[in-house]
Amino acid sequence: MHTIEHIYVDGAFAVPHGQERFELFNPATEDVIGTVRLADAEDARRAIAAAKRAFATFSKTGIDERIALLQRMHDAVLAREADLFDAIREEYGAPVSRGRWMARHAADVFAEAIDTLRAFDFERRMGSADVVMQPVGVAGLITPWNSNAGFICGKLAAAIAAGCTAVIKPSEMSALQTRIVTEALHEAGAPAGVFNIVTGRGYVVGAEIVASPDIAKISFTGSTAVGKGIVRASADTLKRVTLELGGKSPSVILDDADFSKAVPLAIAAGFMNSGQACIAGTRILVPRARLGEFEALAKATVEAVVSGDPADPSTDVGPMVSAKQWERVQGYIRKGIDEGARLLAGGEGRPDGHARGWLVRPTLFTDVRNDMTIAREEIFGPVLSAIAYDDEEEAIAIANDTSYGLQAYVHATDEARARRVASRIDAGRVLVNTLAHEPKAPFGGFKQSGLGREHGRFGLEAYLEPKAVLGL
Ligand code: NAD
Repeated sequence: MHTIEHIYVDGAFAVPHGQERFELFNPATEDVIGTVRLADAEDARRAIAAAKRAFATFSKTGIDERIALLQRMHDAVLAREADLFDAIREEYGAPVSRGRWMARHAADVFAEAIDTLRAFDFERRMGSADVVMQPVGVAGLITPWNSNAGFICGKLAAAIAAGCTAVIKPSEMSALQTRIVTEALHEAGAPAGVFNIVTGRGYVVGAEIVASPDIAKISFTGSTAVGKGIVRASADTLKRVTLELGGKSPSVILDDADFSKAVPLAIAAGFMNSGQACIAGTRILVPRARLGEFEALAKATVEAVVSGDPADPSTDVGPMVSAKQWERVQGYIRKGIDEGARLLAGGEGRPDGHARGWLVRPTLFTDVRNDMTIAREEIFGPVLSAIAYDDEEEAIAIANDTSYGLQAYVHATDEARARRVASRIDAGRVLVNTLAHEPKAPFGGFKQSGLGREHGRFGLEAYLEPKAVLGL
């Protein structure tokens, strides 16, 4: 059993003022694996005060000093890669390949921030003005459970690169990962108060950070509903806000695509991170003339996807993070059936041979209309919808007929055509015949998928205010 009793404030581990104990679960077994003592609003205020004190000095540091700190953080997190991998599997249930990627990603983001920082111009001449990019202030960083370590490190790396200090509110469901990351970052020897980590309830600690006049910027990754509340709550203090929210990403398979490649890729895009991915390609748009061919291939592909024990390397899809999330996904599968979509593979309940664990049967619906609930709402589980279209115009119209706009996928043989279609889809990223990530490119959403961008140059600018000095 894990017992987590400390938060991290002003350069030291501290017993929180908060008293509440929150249970941690192994989603593959449904067993309680530990408890975490949660911070409260008083703890959040202490963390904010420490970050504010540290900002006075840290905001004046030079680039070389910040690069050295980022490098030490990279090395320290990398040294805990194996521990992080174990924690990600135990408390989140990520399958082996995904867990390995996530554990490594937590260190990689520091190296990426160093590259960005080296190439960044903090001072520019614009007309008769000197324009200086100045750190915005103390940043409040709020993360979700579906990639907690990666988001803590990615947001903190950008804040530090800019010269900001930070108060981090990780997901309360990911306390094992948070403890390992905190220990590693402590080893890296940042000046006291530069980063503070206060695990607590969103509506307590998160809300305190969002309301605080001493926090200049929020970077939040999580649900669209909470993101909208953060925009409202931060209006009083006019915070700079970056939001990375939900998605309902289209995978547009064009009629010249090589289906032997496109169909497995589209299914993999949908089941990424066990379907618990904001960027999951959950609406697969299929040319009606090739629907039968798609259905045969897709059914076989989905039926071969293994949903099971995350410790088994042959597992593709792990459990849902919580009982609540499992129920929610089951509800959407029922809703799809009730609304008249046709089940091609999967369905309600657990996969055969599993009586425990929050496992879902990898599910693909066909005959889905884009106005059905399963095509409109983010399910956050391995449940995909195939939607037929008649021509390219209709495919683009369906792809854009969503309140989201985080990511899209295009599968085609003719690259010029793929580029044309990609140029007309309203999404922060469009991936053509690939699932690759590019950390140097901006990441974020159009429409209700968010505000602003993370990663690379755009991500760094989000922690800076331009100041023009004239007359010199
Ligand atoms: P969530 O919105 O429930 O919680 C996210 C974080 O916000 C948690 O730390 C939570 O404690 C905190 N929070 C909750 N209420 C708050 C409040 N009132 N004030 C401040 N903070 C508050 O999301 P989740 O269930 O943890 O994560 C899943 C969601 O995250 C999905 O919708 C998914 O699409 C989204 N997500 C988006 C991206 C992206 O980059 N766009 C990446 C991963 C996940």
